[in-house]
Parts: sequence; structure tokens; C-alpha cells
Amino acid sequence: MDRMNFHVMTLFPEMIEQGLSTSILGRAMERGLISLNAVNIRDYSLDKHRRVDDYPYGGGAGMVMTADPVVRCCRAIQEKIAGEGRKKPRVIYLTPQGRVFRQSMAQELAQEGELIFLCGHYEGIDERALELIVTDRVSIGDYVLTGGELPVMVMIDVIARLVPGVLNNQESPEFETFHDNLLEYPQYTRPELYEGMRVPEVLLSGHHARIEEWRRRQSILRTDAVRPDLMEHAVLSKKEQRFYREMRDRAET
Ligand code: SAM
Repeated sequence: MDRMNFHVMTLFPEMIEQGLSTSILGRAMERGLISLNAVNIRDYSLDKHRRVDDYPYGGGAGMVMTADPVVRCCRAIQEKIAGEGRKKPRVIYLTPQGRVFRQSMAQELAQEGELIFLCGHYEGIDERALELIVTDRVSIGDYVLTGGELPVMVMIDVIARLVPGVLNNQESPEFETFHDNLLEYPQYTRPELYEGMRVPEVLLSGHHARIEEWRRRQSILRTDAVRPDLMEHAVLSKKEQRFYREMRDRAET
């Protein structure tokens, strides 16, 4: 089984290492299924005070990360990878101006085997560095964070759990939210009765076909109520399409 390698260029490597080294991802690293290489951009600054930012040309608020440490940091990672005989990976810049990250993008990136991420800070990074090294610009949503560290942790968490063997139960990603463009059905565990609320009877029946049908219908109901935008591309069987149509007709009358 091939290992998935994540490289992160950041001014705060300890944040990435601490954020990703516990629980499922920590175990995946120990088992050699994924690797994490958080690299401090500051180590590549040639400035005598190790500065990595400067005032923006043209004025304006805040500081901008200078191009040179970022480019040198990226080239050092790329040279190491080339020296080990692996192909040149994509370089992903985390930015609110990028394409919005989705489960489908995670599935595509999980096929890559190796990825380099670039985290910005302050007001962002000198555009020339981005033009020189970045292959993809990705946003985790329409809001602005102080840095790319939390966004990269989100991306690595989502991608890593799609790497074969990282989750114990390989069926999990297949049946959860966003599979078939549907949200997941409600989940229950013991006890059967909690504060007067019972677990739905069908889940105790042991009847697998009925349970599966109930879960799919719950997924459809939930998705339609909360994320009707997803329903447009939901993958439904003929029977489920009928159920959905009847449900819509009932709601309209
Ligand atoms: N001035 C930039 C702009 O208006 O596009 C925002 C810079 S933001 C304060 C600092 C850094 O946080 C960015 O360079 C980026 O790496 C990261 N960042 C902020 N919001 C993000 C988002 N929604 N998705 C991904 N990265 C984000």
C-alpha cells in the first residue's frame, strides 16, 4: 500500500503538527499510511532578522508575506521529492479566493499520493511567488481566516480519511454524508429509550433491507429539508425517485 505524503509550508509548523497528530490521523501516521512534513517558511528567509513580511506596495492595511522565502521553501521540498525519485506534486495555496473545497475535490486529491500546501498569513503572499509555484488555489468556504493553518488542517483531515486503511471500517466513507450527494441518515446507539425518546423501531428489527430503505429515505428527507441544492444531483434509484416525487407532491398539496 502506498503512503500519502503531505507537505505544509507555514509560519506555524507546530500548529499543524499538534493539530493533526492525535486520534485517527495520529494512528495513521504511526502506521505509515500517511506522512506529515510541516516546514517553517521562516527557515528560508535570507534576511538577517529572518523577516518574512513587508509593507504592501501601493499602501493599504497589513503586511504581505515576501516572495523569496516562500519560493525557496517550496523548491527545497520539491528538490527533496525529486531526489527520492517521486513525481512533482501539485502545490495548493489556501486562499479565500480559491475554488471551494468539497468532498468531490478531496476524492480527486486523495488519488495524488503526494501534495504540497502553502499557508498564507497577514494579508496574504506576494502574487509573484504564487505565480511561480502554485498549481491550485483552494478555499474552505466564503469567510476569511487569519491564516491558512486551520484550512490546511481541514483539507488534510478530509483527504487523509479517504486513504485506504486510515479508517478501520472501509465502508464508512462510502455511506456517509455526500455519498450520492445526500446527507447521512440519523444515527442512534444505546440506550433504546432516552428521556422518553425511542430509537426508531425499524433499526431494532434486524431486517437489513427495511433498515437500508428507511435510512435512504431519511437521507432524502433530510437533504431536501436542509440542502435542497444537493438534491438536484442526488443519485437515486427509480424507487427512490418515486418516493421523492410523491413526497414533494404531498408537500405541495
Ligand atoms: N487579504 C486576503 C484576501 O482578501 O483575499 C486574505 C488574507 S487572510 C487574512 C490570510 C491567509 O489566510 C490567506 O493568505 C490564506 O492562506 C488563509 N485563508 C483565509 N481565509 C481562508 C479561506 N476561506 N480558505 C482558505 N484559506 C484561507
